[in-house]
Amino acid sequence: MVLDKRGRPLRDLRVSLTDRCNMRCTYCMPKEHYNNEHVFLPKSEVLSYEEFSLIIDSLVPLGLEKVRITGGEPLMRRDLPNFIAMLPKNLDIAMTTNGIMLAKHAKQLKEAGLDRVTVSLDAIDTDTFQKMSDSNYQPEMVLAGIKAALQSGLGVKVNCVVRAGINEHAVSEITNYFNGSDVVVRFIEFMDVGETNSWNLDEVVSGDEIRSRFEGLEPLKPTHKGEVANRYNWNGQELGFIESVSKPFCGDCSRARISANGSLYTCLFASKGYDLKGIIRMGATESDIAKAVRSIWTDRDDAYSELRGIVKQEKIEMSYIGG
Ligand code: SAM
Ligand code: SF4
Ligand code: SF4
Repeated sequence: MVLDKRGRPLRDLRVSLTDRCNMRCTYCMPKEHYNNEHVFLPKSEVLSYEEFSLIIDSLVPLGLEKVRITGGEPLMRRDLPNFIAMLPKNLDIAMTTNGIMLAKHAKQLKEAGLDRVTVSLDAIDTDTFQKMSDSNYQPEMVLAGIKAALQSGLGVKVNCVVRAGINEHAVSEITNYFNGSDVVVRFIEFMDVGETNSWNLDEVVSGDEIRSRFEGLEPLKPTHKGEVANRYNWNGQELGFIESVSKPFCGDCSRARISANGSLYTCLFASKGYDLKGIIRMGATESDIAKAVRSIWTDRDDAYSELRGIVKQEKIEMSYIGG
């Protein structure tokens, strides 16, 4: 096991398979920035499945337990089940997706070894869904993806980013929609990730504010150290609150991220990554990669959310670094 300067292990890895996405959520990839002029990573720069899987294998001896496949939109990568099948069977494998293409792939993903999916859904009504995602997709496509995931035996969580005055009504609509099902619904505070989403504290609806709309919430104990969501039971349904802005949770953060072009980031709000692609393409072995990551992690001191407002630094975009 490897510990950083604050005594935190490297337990989770988020892997951004691509910086591309079929949506343009206003809080993540606003169209003003992600338009025809935006230069996405060229194909040659994006890691192959073999390269990603070499990194993952290398981190197992350092204590890696969980991998979350994300992006951009991970289902935009071809033959994703082939990648999942390459990953060590003893790891917990999850994926975060916008769910548009999930119905088609859920069964194969489960068969390949995927354990869980987190599906982003910011509203159930078409108008608000399209406004939040700045797309013409229908929320029914995501709901069909969730249904297919459940039928395939995947664990399902729903993530809803709440923006003041835009989708606040979705909080009760989404909760009611999934009440009585096995789906865990989680509300996320709008975060100041990246530099393009015009983040403004006035648009953040805090976890406390959202909770005040529910009567009879009972707090649940965390299932593990470093859990990102504060969990509650509401009428037999699990609700989670990811409160990175109002209640930072850096103390137990055991997450590293790999961007689509193979850089390691030790914090979601990092301004610089460590290029692993370079050494991989020069022939680095598992033990070379493990050695490099051990040295990076040992030097890690990130706690951005706790220091928000004190430390000013240029931040990497979430679609690139992996949400
Ligand atoms: N495209 C996939 C999706 O949307 O689920 C995976 C990548 S996305 C970057 C991962 C998660 O980050 C999504 O649940 C999304 O809602 C969340 N996210 C993106 N930008 C955010 C922001 N500014 N504040 C809070 N959450 C954000
Ligand atoms: Fe795409 Fe996900 Fe970002 Fe929305 S949150 S723009 S779906 S990467
Ligand atoms: Fe972890 Fe950085 Fe988020 Fe803190 S701000 S919880 S260190 S990713």
